[in-house]
Amino acid sequence: MTDPIHELDLRAAGITSIVWATGFHVDYSWLKVEALDTNGRPLHQRGVSPEPGVYFLGLPWQSRRGSTFIWGVWHDAKYLADQIEIQRGYRAYQPAAAQMVAAP
Ligand SMILES: Cc1cc2nc3c(=O)[nH]c(=O)nc-3n(C[C@H](O)[C@H](O)[C@H](O)COP(=O)(O)OP(=O)(O)OC[C@H]3O[C@@H](n4cnc5c(N)ncnc54)[C@H](O)[C@@H]3O)c2cc1C
Repeated sequence: MTDPIHELDLRAAGITSIVWATGFHVDYSWLKVEALDTNGRPLHQRGVSPEPGVYFLGLPWQSRRGSTFIWGVWHDAKYLADQIEIQRGYRAYQPAAAQMVAAP
């Protein structure tokens, strides 16, 4: 790449999702989110991190031996796709306004 983009305003560019396909090199030092432990390893439960909107896929034993394999990762991919939808629903949830009920 001769002229890489070094900065990008995601909102202005209309980008709402990013997939980082960085594979086996587990260096997340460039990722400035609350989704890593003090040793820089992903904090997650089956790929769902504590940072809203940040998910991991393909980690060793994420749910099974095949989690890191092309032949097998789909189990976790399906689970994460479902979780992303569920978590979006949680974030979009607006509690109904409290209703006053007249006492008889
Ligand atoms: C020895 C070995 C044998 C395997 N055999 C099998 C098998 O038989 N069957 C099977 O299903 N799976 C096998 N796998 C697993 C398979 O290789 C992986 O599941 C697959 O490669 C993952 O694809 P990926 O695109 O996520 O990551 P990768 O193929 O690892 O690609 C990630 C790319 O991102 C680049 N990158 C990383 N960080 C950055 C960065 N900060 N900036 C820019 N680029 C970056 C890397 O250099 C790399 O090119 C094997 C893995 C290994 C190591």
